[in-house]
Amino acid sequence: MADQTSEKQSVDPNKPYKGRFKSYHRIPEKGRDKKDILNELSIMAEEENMKWKTGQVSGTFYHAEDEHRRFLNEIFSFFSHVNTIQFDLCPSMFKMESEIISMTANMLHGDAVKKQNPEDEVCGTVTSGGSESIMMAMKVYRDWARAEKKISNPEIIMPDTAHPAFDKAGKYFGIKMVHIPVSLPDFRVDPRAVEQAINKNTVAIAGSAGNYPYGLIDPLQDLSDIALRHKIGFHVDGCLGGFILPWIEKLGYDIPVFDFRLPGLTSISADTHKYGFALKGTSVVLYRNNKLRRYQYFNVPDWPGGMYASPTGAGSRSGGLTAATWSALVYLGEEGYLQGAKAIMNVADQIKKGIQDIPELKLIGEPTFVISFRSEEVDIYHVNDYMKTKGWRFNCLQLPPAMHFCVTMPQIFVPDVAKRMISDLKEGVSYAKSKAGTVAKTTALYGLAGTMEGNEQVTELIFGFFDYLYAV
Ligand SMILES: *Cc1c(COP(=O)(O)O)cnc(C)c1O
Repeated sequence: MADQTSEKQSVDPNKPYKGRFKSYHRIPEKGRDKKDILNELSIMAEEENMKWKTGQVSGTFYHAEDEHRRFLNEIFSFFSHVNTIQFDLCPSMFKMESEIISMTANMLHGDAVKKQNPEDEVCGTVTSGGSESIMMAMKVYRDWARAEKKISNPEIIMPDTAHPAFDKAGKYFGIKMVHIPVSLPDFRVDPRAVEQAINKNTVAIAGSAGNYPYGLIDPLQDLSDIALRHKIGFHVDGCLGGFILPWIEKLGYDIPVFDFRLPGLTSISADTHKYGFALKGTSVVLYRNNKLRRYQYFNVPDWPGGMYASPTGAGSRSGGLTAATWSALVYLGEEGYLQGAKAIMNVADQIKKGIQDIPELKLIGEPTFVISFRSEEVDIYHVNDYMKTKGWRFNCLQLPPAMHFCVTMPQIFVPDVAKRMISDLKEGVSYAKSKAGTVAKTTALYGLAGTMEGNEQVTELIFGFFDYLYAV
């Protein structure tokens, strides 16, 4: 196909650049002018930045303040071309990664494991993101149980609210993921239901700190006890909370123990690319001991291309990300993370209080930095419809319908975000009342899932949507 540039400006909100910038169906015969490329992409980036710099977008952009980003990007440029696993040519990579792992382990009370068992010592790897961290841990439990317990049909038990990366691991690695519904009105998993689901094929259980839907921390102390009792693995997903809960706890908030202080916890994931305030594309997975980490490593000793080994799921990874992550940790320091957590909690507390004062809205659980809520009086999706018209981007939750806002740094840099949010939410509730009995726009997206046929329809729609997005 030839290059095509349609004259008409796109009206498709998902493809706003169609017709505005050149679309490529093949590598251009002659390269384009550097300045021209820089100019075009900086326009896209700046326009897209405008969407979240208002402070009205939940989660997604965790730090991204200009000066912070400039610093990390400069560091990135020193090592952008480097492959992290090239340890002979680039010894800086394992220096930095081992220190990222140690700093993360220390933050998550890795020192506690030695007190419980002198032979244990926390270790881990840097991965490309939270999903990979979780998937690696699930693979470890599968392979550990196969080797040491002769379990060939592994099952892992997870709360319904745990991240889909667990299910992805199940599908990719042939592990049966057993879902336990959260109990109402608690919205956290019932440990007794988890224990009842354990059978001879169970290799591990999982919990979150906090989970994505509600930001809530599962009853991890109980899950830890269960894991010890049944001698199985216990993964805590700290992808979201791992780099902020330690600081929130230090600020004096009442945070249940979620890290290596739990004697049954055998692995934990924590995302440097979320509240670690590093660039996108890094996460850390930690294990209680090296025996477990060994099940993550991979090698082919007899490959014609040479001996091949890799510690994580990825092959080559950019050293730029490793260097930027290391730099974020040592640049911010405990002081910087504490300041960030304090500012985030200040906004989160205001939002929480404001929602508590709106009688039609109901908070879900005891929120920290993610505030989730529902309503028994109005259709919460109508409220979301209204908030969208005001430029807010909440995350919509389903089964049951609810919404959440995850507070990050962009809310800190914009004055009065919490106040404006609460005032708009009040109007949103009035709007929802006026629309009672009608179907909300948001429902069109969320109305289908929950039944077998509904889920199939949704999957078909979503996959079709990917196909359409991938079309130039
Ligand atoms: C973001 C997230 C993940 C997955 O992380 P990715 O980095 O997006 O792969 C896992 N668990 C929770 C709770 C998360 O919020």
